[in-house]
Amino acid sequence: MPMSPSRVAEHFNTKVGNNMKIVFFNIPAHGHTNPTLGIVKELLKNNHEVYYYSYEIMREKIESSGAHFISCDKFDSQTKLSNEDKEKISKDLVFSTNLIVDMTLRLDDEILKEMQKLKPDVIIADSMAFWGKLIAKKLNIPFISSTTTFAFNKYSARIMKQDGPSLFQLIKSIPKINKSLDKLREKGYKVKSMLDIISNDENTSTIVYTSKYFQPYAETFNDNYVFVGPILRESNEKMEKTEIPTVYISLGTVNNNNRVFYQNCFDALKDENLRVIMSVGEDTDIESLGKIPDNFIVKKQVDQISVLEVSDVFITHCGMNSTSEGLYYGIPLILFPQTTEQKGVANRVKELGAGKLLEKINDPENIKNTVLEVLKDKNLRENAKKISNSFKACGNTLEAVRFIENKI
Ligand code: UDP
Repeated sequence: MPMSPSRVAEHFNTKVGNNMKIVFFNIPAHGHTNPTLGIVKELLKNNHEVYYYSYEIMREKIESSGAHFISCDKFDSQTKLSNEDKEKISKDLVFSTNLIVDMTLRLDDEILKEMQKLKPDVIIADSMAFWGKLIAKKLNIPFISSTTTFAFNKYSARIMKQDGPSLFQLIKSIPKINKSLDKLREKGYKVKSMLDIISNDENTSTIVYTSKYFQPYAETFNDNYVFVGPILRESNEKMEKTEIPTVYISLGTVNNNNRVFYQNCFDALKDENLRVIMSVGEDTDIESLGKIPDNFIVKKQVDQISVLEVSDVFITHCGMNSTSEGLYYGIPLILFPQTTEQKGVANRVKELGAGKLLEKINDPENIKNTVLEVLKDKNLRENAKKISNSFKACGNTLEAVRFIENKI
């Protein structure tokens, strides 16, 4: 008996016979994992199979999205890194190249065999889980990069300008990097240079979690790049907006142990008619900060989305997630970047007129004046709103899913 039209539609909607096997690779970082989880859930709704290679600390989160979780801890050298080593990752290219090469070679044997058995239709890897890309290329499996920072090419790199000394260090380290890459070449990976690994060429399909408006030099990226906007998680609690303005301060989840800065914020804002919410991170001993002023709420961790929903200004370290989350709510930012990547994000916010750099961080008077100026500045607020509107106009999770399905 022929199928009724509605049965035919149902048949095609559920993509029977058309479902794909999709493998994700990621690093153990919440900011890199969170946006992919909504995508995983949608892919599963469309009857695709999803295998997610990541780390034990992400297991619960990934399994609750419905994906098959496969732990990479046993291959990893990152879990054994000291805090100093972790800081070196973003600063010392020889060190980070060695880590990537090391990790890829550890995975090489076992994961290659698994991939050959599984025969995925596509591998999606975070732009920092370089091994996913190397494995996909080696096995000729279609590849998509998931990029939670700005999309990177020679133009957008300008916003993350290397200063003189670090550029010199970089050039000096090229022979050492090449020696390390030789180990990959010996195992059949076709890598010409480190740039092959850390940047995507224009033929690489790439999902970027920002808007074209916020992406620097967006016009230099072709249709292989899709800008789906930041994918925010839901807030878990509802905070009350107060009559007085709310200042939110956070240096993110990685390099946040900065007692002197937090104490300077106390001195700067304790006598102002402001509510200040400060997230100081798991490694900061709150007791060691001394007396907490009455108008401050200090916690090791907050539900950042619910705090942002009621904030009027955000002093941020300019991590890509925090920045996007603040701007999504149209909040002007006070920029206190620490790493090269964060400086790049801060530069872009400044360029679009949605934030002000915190100049003298050890001067409470300066911190106070910057907060008061930013609260008064209508232009900053309007420009933050423009970025917010550009985020809200993006296609988000569903666009990412469409992009993945169309690539196969
Ligand atoms: N975050 C949070 N509560 C806090 C501090 C941070 O929920 O008290 C979240 C924040 O919403 C963001 C992430 O942690 O999604 C931080 O990521 P980001 O890229 O800004 O910085 P990183 O921590 O990677 O330096």
